[in-house]
Amino acid sequence: MSHTVIETADNGPFEGDGVPTAAPQMDADHRSPIPAGGIRDGVLYFQRCRWCHTAVFRRLLCPVCGSTDMAEERSDGIGVIHHVTFVGRSVGKPRAMAIIDMREGFRLRARVSAVPLARACVGAEVRLGFGAQPQEIAFQLCDA
Ligand SMILES: [Zn+2]
Repeated sequence: MSHTVIETADNGPFEGDGVPTAAPQMDADHRSPIPAGGIRDGVLYFQRCRWCHTAVFRRLLCPVCGSTDMAEERSDGIGVIHHVTFVGRSVGKPRAMAIIDMREGFRLRARVSAVPLARACVGAEVRLGFGAQPQEIAFQLCDA
């Protein structure tokens, strides 16, 4: 008669795949300061840990050594597609959302524009382009 289902309370903070999205986090009336890193005046910035030199994107803590002592650096905006997902097909607006390994060693998620879209494939070299909004980070194929 023992029919006990014990649900493990394993509801830690949901981290997803651990890759921060490049989309700006809009917070209507509470503009929390976005951690350093992001796009300003068409230049992509990231952070590098001052202790172990790990490059990260929009993190408050170094994922390697836990330091909060991060220095902001400029990225040259060149990377390689590590993973790509095609979204929006059902609404007739297909987009390629890619996880991009940047040359400096950090990783971010952003939209990649390509014609045809299927050219946005794993291993393709991409560079920073321009999104629809000033704060949107979007990439395009290097050989486009
Ligand atoms: Zn570190």
